[in-house]
Amino acid sequence: MAPDITVCLSFDFDAMSVWIQNFRTDSPNALSRGEFGRVGAGRILDLLAERELPATFFIPGHTIEAFPDTCARIAGAGHEIGHHGYCHENPKRQEPEQERAILERGIELIEKLAGRPPRGYRAPAGSFSHRTIEYLVEYGFRYDSSMMADDFTPYYCRVGDRVSEDAPYEFGRRVDLVELPFSWNLDDFPAFEYTASRIGVSPGLADPDRVYSIWAGEFDWLYRKLGRGVYTLTMHPQTIGRGHRLLMLERLLDYIQGHPGVRFATMVDHPAAWRAGYPLAEAVEAR
Ligand SMILES: [Zn+2]
Repeated sequence: MAPDITVCLSFDFDAMSVWIQNFRTDSPNALSRGEFGRVGAGRILDLLAERELPATFFIPGHTIEAFPDTCARIAGAGHEIGHHGYCHENPKRQEPEQERAILERGIELIEKLAGRPPRGYRAPAGSFSHRTIEYLVEYGFRYDSSMMADDFTPYYCRVGDRVSEDAPYEFGRRVDLVELPFSWNLDDFPAFEYTASRIGVSPGLADPDRVYSIWAGEFDWLYRKLGRGVYTLTMHPQTIGRGHRLLMLERLLDYIQGHPGVRFATMVDHPAAWRAGYPLAEAVEAR
């Protein structure tokens, strides 16, 4: 069978929000590190335009308000804009009403920016509450990209899993929210960012050749062994936007684009076609 691979380039444009929220700092230096995301985003937009590639940007509302011109440029270039919280809040730490309010605030800002509500979601800090999936379905989201139960094959999310230390794991019910799997392997932040916080030190600062071999190796497995699926890269303008890393990304794009049977798409484009071939009713029966 001829390969049929969809490549989704996704960029989480966290800017200052991740430092304010997750690293709990108002240090001007840390915030300036997030502000570099504006520079990185500009470089990424140039690269995408040069290669005529579509991409998906998950943008916290806080970034939309801080950098309206850059965000307008993202929307104006036709890239998809997905939801990523207001100020990068970890949904697991929110009360139900707070989580709802943050979802609504982000939706409103994206609607104002892009002229349509977001259809995709990525959880800030890669962390759901036990309500998040239900809320995403309720607010009309079509896909999520924060979970890791597969790597290149989409699947329907579940609600109502029951977890206990002394009883078998109980799987909940499938719902109409497609997961386009996320992976820390294919995320630039842990590999490259040096961080020191109360919870410890992450050395980061990886040699881009090492990251290239992981990212290309994952692509090779998908291409040669599976032959079909979605390859999702998760990148951050403040991280991948540094020169030596962008050169690595260009090298990877050259490599991927050299393979027949590969197309680049926004993330929202993929689930519609996938749903048609694999309806929810079949997935419910399979479980
Ligand atoms: Zn983020």
